[in-house]
Amino acid sequence: MKDLAMGPLEIIIGTGGFFILAILVWTVLSMRAAVVRMRELRKDFEHSQAMGAQPASLHPRINLEKCIGTDACIAACPETNVIAIVDGQARLANPTACIGHGECLRACPVGAIELVIGSETRGVDIPDLAPGFETNVPGLYIFGELGGMGLIYNAMTQALTGMARLIKSIPAPVAGAHQVVIVGAGPAGLAATLAAIKAGLDYVTIDQDSMGGTVLQYPRHKIVMTRSVDLPVYGRIKLGSVQKEDLLGLWEDIVKKAGVQVRGLTQLTALKRGDDGLFTLSTQCDGQAGELRAQRIVLALGRRGSPRKLGIPGEDLAKVTYRLLEPENYAGANTLVVGGGDSAVEAAVALGEAGAVVQLVHRGRMFDRIKTKNQKRLDAAVAAGLVELVLEASPQAITETHVEIKVGEGIRRIANDYVLIFAGGMLPTKLLKDAGVAISTYHGEVYLPAN
Ligand SMILES: Cc1cc2nc3c(=O)[nH]c(=O)nc-3n(C[C@H](O)[C@H](O)[C@H](O)COP(=O)(O)OP(=O)(O)OC[C@H]3O[C@@H](n4cnc5c(N)ncnc54)[C@H](O)[C@@H]3O)c2cc1C
Repeated sequence: MKDLAMGPLEIIIGTGGFFILAILVWTVLSMRAAVVRMRELRKDFEHSQAMGAQPASLHPRINLEKCIGTDACIAACPETNVIAIVDGQARLANPTACIGHGECLRACPVGAIELVIGSETRGVDIPDLAPGFETNVPGLYIFGELGGMGLIYNAMTQALTGMARLIKSIPAPVAGAHQVVIVGAGPAGLAATLAAIKAGLDYVTIDQDSMGGTVLQYPRHKIVMTRSVDLPVYGRIKLGSVQKEDLLGLWEDIVKKAGVQVRGLTQLTALKRGDDGLFTLSTQCDGQAGELRAQRIVLALGRRGSPRKLGIPGEDLAKVTYRLLEPENYAGANTLVVGGGDSAVEAAVALGEAGAVVQLVHRGRMFDRIKTKNQKRLDAAVAAGLVELVLEASPQAITETHVEIKVGEGIRRIANDYVLIFAGGMLPTKLLKDAGVAISTYHGEVYLPAN
């Protein structure tokens, strides 16, 4: 009878065979996943081309005459899926996900990338800034992403450089005016406020939202790539790769320890420099108009703009919001999400997954501006009954308990606890122009920021 027991050699061959098979299966699966991913990225690229999508500020332009299709730029990009190889060359597959790290430029082995603002087809308005980030209006400074350069580190260091100049040039205090009003409490506004505190200035910092700026809007648990900075009053913040929530925790610690005061929910609506050199700022807080006077102004408004409003009755109710921070807080509640872009779709799906009752209202017949990934997530959420679509519809009025929506010729009245509106942002270009700030429109030119 043949001995069925395996000898040591057979065991080794058997085990080795198993590993070889496992590696083969893994390789085939990875290759399949890569092919699917490439197809998705190609679709994203075609979609973004068709929509004319482009990043808000500094972004790479790829010279296809030079690009040899290594994926060095893709590997270097700290964000995901911004660049993809399409037909053997690097292309911007998801331009709006680009936040201007510029690592692709440094990684490209053949110098095929340059950093530009705007594109031939779509201009981007950037205020003209002198070194020190002062505008052509004396005493009016612009720090951070509004000036064209994104990233937390850039926003903070620009603010510190600019504040050093502002502090040097500030005249003696005058009655009835603050020495400096800082508008915006994102990274640039926070750093400017710390510099004002250190210099002992009479300052006021306002924000249409609350302290934190764009960081507050990042997707949950986003890994934020940024660099360490020495902050006045607080000291060095050691950063590198940090989770969004930890960064916000650090902001709170800075605010507490340095005694930073921010007037939240206060929006700057207009700005004027008088003949006496003093600025008058018009503000809105809780539907109330206000006014501030200042010797110097810092605008650290970023580039997300102010939320576009629907302008319908009831929009000023406390249950109406323009952002989604903690979806679980809405579990069990009747929520209406308004909008047809990625932010609206992402919010609707997140709310549905968190257990809210969700209607997503969009004036179009389909969501033709969203990313492929979001369309898939939306289809799945609708199929699972997590989100109800109300298309070719527009909200008409909001009350404490209901919303009224025009659908076709009729009005639908839906029980409602919260309304979340994602109708895009309005950049402060008009506000700046009205204040006399010189602005240049960039159509894909290489951008050299002031310093
Ligand atoms: C999804 C995403 C991920 C990102 N990831 C990174 C990253 O990993 N690393 C990195 O370095 N950068 C990242 N960035 C970019 C970074 O967040 C911004 O460049 C940075 O926040 C700019 O700072 P800021 O202070 O200039 O403007 P913001 O952070 O945008 O702050 C502007 C503030 O001004 C307020 N404001 C605007 N208008 C008014 C008004 N009229 N009245 C009163 N207040 C007003 C706003 O409410 C806001 O609080 C990311 C951006 C996004 C969108």
